[in-house]
This record gives sequence, C-alpha cells and structure tokens, in this order.
Amino acid sequence: MKDTVTLITGAARGIGLATATLFHAEGRRVVLLDRDAEELATAAATLPGALSVTCDVSIPKQVAQALTEVEQSCGRLDILVNNAGVADFGPLAETDFARWRRVMDTNLDGVFLMSQACLPLLSARGGAIVNIASISGLRASTLRIAYGTSKAAVIHLTKQQAAELGEVGIRANCVCPGPVNTKLALAVHSPEIRAAYHDAIPLNRYGTEREIAEVICFLASERASFVTGQVVASDGGFDSTGVGLP
Ligand code: NAD
Repeated sequence: MKDTVTLITGAARGIGLATATLFHAEGRRVVLLDRDAEELATAAATLPGALSVTCDVSIPKQVAQALTEVEQSCGRLDILVNNAGVADFGPLAETDFARWRRVMDTNLDGVFLMSQACLPLLSARGGAIVNIASISGLRASTLRIAYGTSKAAVIHLTKQQAAELGEVGIRANCVCPGPVNTKLALAVHSPEIRAAYHDAIPLNRYGTEREIAEVICFLASERASFVTGQVVASDGGFDSTGVGLP
C-alpha cells in the first residue's frame, strides 16, 4: 500500500484535504492538486512526503502539465479522486451563460479532463476513480440549475466510466455528499437553508469532511474491489426521505 499513489483534486481544503489526510494516514503516497497555490502549499505542509501540484482542472494544458509532473515524480498512479468543485445557487432565469459555463468548466469538464489525462497511468495498474457529485445531482431544486445539472452529469459520467473501463480493471464510483460545513457550503447556505437542511436530514445535522472522506477511501480501496458504477449518498439519510432540497 505504501507504494500506491493517490491523486486528489481540490485538495487544498475541505473534503479534498480530509480525503488526502485519510489516505496519507493509511500510508499511501498522496498528490494534492488544486488551483489555489497558496492554500495548497499550506495543506501540503501538513502531510509529509505529499506532492503538491498547482493546476486548474478546467484548463486542458494545465491538466496535461500536471500529469507529466505526477508521472515524473511518482512514476505511477493508482487512484484518482475527482473532488474539485464550485458551488452556484441560482435559477434558470438568473443564470447567464458565463455563470453556467463557470460551473460546468470545473464540475463537469474538470472531471472529464482529469480522468482522460490519468487514464494511461491508471490503466497500467487497474486502478480506481472516485468522482464527487452531490445530493444536488440526485434531486432537482428551484435554486441549482447549473450546479445540480453539473452534478447529475458527473453521476452519469461515473456510470459511463465504469462501463467502459471495467475491461482494463479500472473501477469508477461516485459519492454524493449531503451538506458539509466547508467554505463552499458556507458561501451559499443562508440561515434559512441551513435550518431547512437540519429538519430535512434524518440525522438532523450537517456531515463532516471526515465522514465523506471515509466513504471515498472505502470506494477507492481494495475492500471495494467488486464495486463499480455505484452512486453512494453520504447524506445523513436525506435522499432516502423523498423530501425536496431546501
Ligand atoms: P471547498 O470549496 O472547501 O474546496 C474545493 C476545492 O476545490 C478548493 O480548494 C478549490 O480551490 C478547489 N477548486 C475549485 N475549482 C477548481 C479548479 N477548477 N481546479 C482546481 N481546483 C479547484 O469545497 P468542498 O465543500 O470541500 O467541496 C468538495 C466537493 O464536494 C465539490 O465537488 C463539491 O461540489 C462537493 N460537495 C460539497 C458539499 C458541501 O456541502 N460542502 C455537498 C455536496 C457536494
């Protein structure tokens, strides 16, 4: 396990950093990738031996350069966690095309570009991909025309990956987190939305980064060696209730 290499996008903070920390604690080599160089350096300093790569996952040239760096430094790749994402709460009438594109660029194109760029290295190992979507990709709402659509697309992209890549031994699964108190959620969850989530979630609370990271690590690990094409909600039971998104 010590030799395995795990690349996590959006790893400078939040769920990505919690995931990198958990893989690191398991003795795996981790590569932290993020577009925020300053926050990335601070995060990488907490994980001795981690490689940090500054890259915007929505820019093909930067993605290609990042993978060259990973290949040169690590020589292999076993696990890819596509976690980088941006939030946007807005209805159809108020979402102009630039806003729509900003969300799709990172949340959908970023997953496509990173997965494609990692494929040659992953194929050699029969590795695993874990994509991070959201309960917003499972349930429609009045507020998430771009974000919800991008996450629903990530769910389907995961199933496409599983169908296509099984024959080279690569598994692909998807995690749909419920609300977690990260910078992303704090920016878009008003007090009213927070209160509504507390009521709508059977466990009556937000999740933690660590709780999401545990599911990601399981799906990526050998313990899930016969699991592929699956969508796992880690959401305190929210999706099981049939209640609409706040
Ligand atoms: P966060 O904002 O704390 O962290 C996201 C990280 O991704 C940041 O470090 C940011 O710099 C990086 N990033 C954003 N765009 C990037 C790009 N184009 N290229 C490279 N890095 C980029 O957010 P988080 O809450 O930890 O979210 C992680 C993932 O979980 C996202 O995909 C998000 O949509 C999903 N998610 C979060 C919640 C929640 O409530 N926090 C719920 C459901 C799903």
